[in-house]
Amino acid sequence: MTAAPTGTPLRPLTRRLGPAAPETRHQAAARDGAGSNAVLRLEDVSKTYPNGRSALRNVDLIVPEGDFVFLVGPSGAGKSTLLRLIVRDELATNGRVLLDGEDVARVPRSRVPHIRRKLGVVFQDYKLLPRKTVRENVAFALEVTGTPHKRIGPAVDRVLAIVGLGGHAEHLPTQLSGGEQQRTAIARALVHDPRLIIADEPTGNLDPLISWEIIQLLLRINELGVTVLVATHQADVVTALRRRVVALDEGRIARDEATGAYHREG
Ligand code: ADP
Repeated sequence: MTAAPTGTPLRPLTRRLGPAAPETRHQAAARDGAGSNAVLRLEDVSKTYPNGRSALRNVDLIVPEGDFVFLVGPSGAGKSTLLRLIVRDELATNGRVLLDGEDVARVPRSRVPHIRRKLGVVFQDYKLLPRKTVRENVAFALEVTGTPHKRIGPAVDRVLAIVGLGGHAEHLPTQLSGGEQQRTAIARALVHDPRLIIADEPTGNLDPLISWEIIQLLLRINELGVTVLVATHQADVVTALRRRVVALDEGRIARDEATGAYHREG
């Protein structure tokens, strides 16, 4: 992989994850109390939309620092709702969503930007600014958080190197392939050194080969110490990688396996 320039390392992994245990990681965390330093914790979370639609029911989830989690489930299972609760686009009807120990629904309005800076979000349709170059799109994420100007250039160069787009920095989104646009979006999500990257169907618009590259990139970013949560329909990728799989079904956690497949086997 392309190494980050020295002197500006991402936060190192504080907790190396061991080989898969027979029990699920969720169970292990609950048993030894490791949830106390979880990056993300959902406690008995339910969400009912104003139209009466129940999207999540009594969801408990612990994502420890350094974890890489696939969130799977059929359409309508509640995946997007769960992600929207984390970024505080929606509020839970019951229960708590804790990011780094902080209840996202209870932070005062003035601290919402602080909470958002702990998150990097990647969407299926990239959501790049069409009139800005790759460099400007990534820099913009720092400009809006008031980062001093002289720190922006080096930070942008660092993440463009990580995602392998150093040579495309001055290109507009229309001059990029879909995979390159998604790499730009990942660089933008990474540039403020988030605690958690959330990706909502990040490969939904990409062909299989490019999808693999994007997932591999997210895995490399995870190896740099960033916790990653990926909602996906890509069964082959999920099954092949044998990472933690949390499966939602009709708003409930149907499965949480430390080294899972997309579908339950056997
Ligand atoms: P997924 O991402 O797994 O497809 P969603 O979280 O989008 O699932 O949807 C879960 C359930 O909540 C579905 O029944 C869906 O119709 C419903 N839902 C999602 N968003 C809204 C909304 N804004 N208003 C009302 N119902 C919604």
